[in-house]
Amino acid sequence: MNYKIEGGTVLTFAEGRPVTEDKTIYVKDGNITFTPFSEGEMYETVHAARKLIMPGLINMHTHVYMTLMRNYADDVPFQEWLFNGVMPVEDKLPVEAAYWTTQLGIMEMFLTGTTCYVDMHMYHRQSPSAARDAGMRAYIGRGLVGEDLYTDGYSRFSQALEEKAEFESDTLKFILSPHAIYSCSPRLLSQVSEEADKHQMLRQTHLSESVTELTDCLKNHGKTPVELLRDTGFLNDRTILAHCVQMQGDDLDIIKASGASIVTNVASNAKLGNGIAPVAAMQEKGINVCVGTDGTASNNTLNMFREMGLLSLMHKAAARDCLSIPSDSIVKAATYNASLALHNPSIGRIEEGAAADLIFVDLDAPSLYPNNNIISSLCYSANGSEVDSTMVNGKFVMRKRELLTIDKEKVYFEVNKIAEKYL
Ligand SMILES: [Zn+2]
Repeated sequence: MNYKIEGGTVLTFAEGRPVTEDKTIYVKDGNITFTPFSEGEMYETVHAARKLIMPGLINMHTHVYMTLMRNYADDVPFQEWLFNGVMPVEDKLPVEAAYWTTQLGIMEMFLTGTTCYVDMHMYHRQSPSAARDAGMRAYIGRGLVGEDLYTDGYSRFSQALEEKAEFESDTLKFILSPHAIYSCSPRLLSQVSEEADKHQMLRQTHLSESVTELTDCLKNHGKTPVELLRDTGFLNDRTILAHCVQMQGDDLDIIKASGASIVTNVASNAKLGNGIAPVAAMQEKGINVCVGTDGTASNNTLNMFREMGLLSLMHKAAARDCLSIPSDSIVKAATYNASLALHNPSIGRIEEGAAADLIFVDLDAPSLYPNNNIISSLCYSANGSEVDSTMVNGKFVMRKRELLTIDKEKVYFEVNKIAEKYL
């Protein structure tokens, strides 16, 4: 279906900053154009008065399958959360369970305006199956761990390549996702770098998330996690680094020089007691900073609006500086910057030829009224419930708060069964 979307307020980027303007958008064959349809072309007119039409939010780091463990291991220290809370459940879950828990996460994302996620998962074929069936855009990486990619790490690596071969499409892309410097050897990280270049895949890892990771790395390797990763050849402009909370010495300069992008996960870092990443310093250095929720076991939502709000508020509070990290830079980080990190200029923006990944935000929602500053309201006032409709690649996946591609009752039924059995 093609659409003429008229009467709305449209968020675009001018000279690197988000601005709003009143214009008509045409969605043709999944892409945005500003050229009206020719006579005889079939389309539906969408009346969008009092709606903000903006690029869908891009969640640059998450583990969607973790919805099962939402509020399951709360208020415990990070190491205990990971090794005694999350991992024992992950170990006993059947692979197929992750299909339903991922669909649950996608439901939440559609309803809160996310049209693309970057996933690190551990259940073969489930994240791409769930995203494909829901019509979600995703960049998916099978989590990799081990000493050597071709021996103990091989089964996971081969699954990563199998998923790419089976599922890659316009909307599904595949990346290589070694878990972290403490679960992957430097050799494996070097091997992943070579394979990523060979297969032209992006790579993502967790980096410098906790103080323990930093102090262990300094003790074991005599380097910071950033220095260690640099020395494996992992860092370049096709690298996405999640967290980067514990930055020391030249760490930010090293990341800047490499061209890698950082994903900040402010709620997860706060909840697990890992601290606050130096995002203002990252921005000042000119590092491309994006936004992610991390998984729901550590956040505990996939709601990017809450993430944007917390990013702004927590940094202002911590820096005692109300000018720290302006709200327009956060809106850009959650959309446009993600497209730079993903090397995909057709998402994260509303412009001629871009993919129609759009969300319609209700400007008449009480929480946004009376629209004194639409851009800042997305950070300071919105909670996600204002998202009226969500479109991915030119197709409505949620319209007027109704999910169109996911059977909500079926997902709840299956997730309840799984929770009863394995939690
Ligand atoms: Zn993570």
